[in-house]
Amino acid sequence: MASPDLSPGHPDTVQQWHTVREHIAHDAIAAGRDPGAVSLITVSKTFSASAITPVLDAGQRIFGENRVQETAGKWPLLKARFPDVELHLIGPLQSNKAREAVALFDVIETVDRPKIARALAAEMRRQDRFLPCLVQVNIGQEPQKAGISPDDTVAFVHHCREQGLPVSGLMCIPPVNLPPGPFFERMGMLAQRSGLKTLSMGMSADYAEAIRHGATHVRVGSAIFGHRPP
Ligand SMILES: *Cc1c(COP(=O)(O)O)cnc(C)c1O
Repeated sequence: MASPDLSPGHPDTVQQWHTVREHIAHDAIAAGRDPGAVSLITVSKTFSASAITPVLDAGQRIFGENRVQETAGKWPLLKARFPDVELHLIGPLQSNKAREAVALFDVIETVDRPKIARALAAEMRRQDRFLPCLVQVNIGQEPQKAGISPDDTVAFVHHCREQGLPVSGLMCIPPVNLPPGPFFERMGMLAQRSGLKTLSMGMSADYAEAIRHGATHVRVGSAIFGHRPP
């Protein structure tokens, strides 16, 4: 079922994975933090199962994917071989895919509107499978981006919990053309005000800065797997 155009990956993936892990540990220590407090989510979207397998063999267990369909095509077989894999949904979810998403993923990072919160809560009850969820914050208040506006975040977290969603943290993608530090800092304040411990922020280009501002999860794709076809 995997679509045939998935990328075969980069020959140095495992080496790059080791390098990113070293950088994360170094950045955490430099920020006065415990390196064990920052988890690497290896973002494997657009890469084939055979490109992902060497990283699994090397010991990576947390992965991020942004499409339900692509995940359904390539992960069930990989999960059969590596049952302790933790799959994070990091892309936008449509409510008609909530059923499949709850069955396939282990963490949903992109709860970004009331309709999705409702659909996920209903599916989790139906499948008796309660997944940790993160609320996606549109921290730069960009019209083209998904996410709850920063001013509404605390109330939305409360709303999700009333629906029965196990919300454990916040996630964001800051604006591409601005220094990310102030956005990451605001995320930290929002998490604190919501009583949440998990902060998923920082990608290949800015994870060091995210770690300085308290990221507990960084989502790194291209620095490990190489460039994705556009
Ligand atoms: C693709 C993606 C990433 C990884 O981005 P890189 O720049 O390749 O590290 C992280 N987070 C989200 C939400 C993504 O869609």
